[in-house]
Amino acid sequence: MIPSLKLINPKLNLVYSKVLQMVNYTIWSNIKGLSASKKNGRKIGHIRFKGYGWYNTLNYNQSGFKVDQDRSLLHLSKIGDMRIKIYRKIEGCIKAVIIKREGNRWFAIVQADQEPQPLPETKDVVGLDVGLTSFVVDSEGNEIENPRCAEQSEDKLARLQRRLARAVRGSNNYGAIKDKIAKLHKRINCQRDDFLHKLSRMYVNKFDIICVEDLDVKGLKEKGHNRGMHRSIHDASWSKFIFMLSYKAQSAGRKLIKIDPRNTTQRCSACGSIVKKELCDRVHECPYCGFLCNRDYNASRNILLTGMEQPVAPIESKPLHHIFVMQVLAMKWEAAPFRTR
Ligand SMILES: [Zn+2]
Repeated sequence: MIPSLKLINPKLNLVYSKVLQMVNYTIWSNIKGLSASKKNGRKIGHIRFKGYGWYNTLNYNQSGFKVDQDRSLLHLSKIGDMRIKIYRKIEGCIKAVIIKREGNRWFAIVQADQEPQPLPETKDVVGLDVGLTSFVVDSEGNEIENPRCAEQSEDKLARLQRRLARAVRGSNNYGAIKDKIAKLHKRINCQRDDFLHKLSRMYVNKFDIICVEDLDVKGLKEKGHNRGMHRSIHDASWSKFIFMLSYKAQSAGRKLIKIDPRNTTQRCSACGSIVKKELCDRVHECPYCGFLCNRDYNASRNILLTGMEQPVAPIESKPLHHIFVMQVLAMKWEAAPFRTR
């Protein structure tokens, strides 16, 4: 339809052809993705028209761009040359450049093909259970605290949103508040991503095989009560965390095993008996073998055993080792920041 749309709206000729094709492609894959989730029983909404001011990305795929890292220049067809700040040295063959607007800031996201960088074997394996009380409990007995990035900025966000509601739509003030809100959202997202990147990096570095529950099968609501804003943030964080684990593992020559989540919480990881629990029960206490431990720790052991196809085995219960968000954030970034000029 693009050639005929160009006749109706000649302005489209000002946009690089590949960019238009990618919009087409994005809509099409969204429609396909949505119908797939619908088949999986997820509740889905409708695709909405994104008018001027709401559509925030341009995708230069395969051609139409040139990145000059030495001179910090980006060339885009039909737009021209522009100065860019490069935060990290780009290695590998560049496949695409995505231009993204966030508030009134612009970003170029560079996709590059890189060779996998296998890590030396550690012979260690781990099972991870993601939860609400703590972000992750692993089969080594570590309990990782939940990041509360959004909660810390909540009051500030609410205040800005009230101010936005009072402001005159389209006024300078309105735009300024909207920009502040976008900036705050960006900051919250960056903090959370930082945490997720570092935590997933930590697990990939330490373990040859990582076992997790297949959240697509589980349906996220089984993991906890299904209400409120924090829920959706948690859901998104878990999915993102597992996605990060999966690509980092792949690149490092590690294995990520997603297991069927049936009975991971209910089963006793010491004797195999089914011990029924409610969501509020934080402890696993087995009436058959006497194994007493944290509920999520029991689940993480089951996840590991199922993933490794091993039978249940008695184990000494010990208190969990609590790891704070700040301890994770204190980790160094995997790639050193890169600045020119
Ligand atoms: Zn038991």
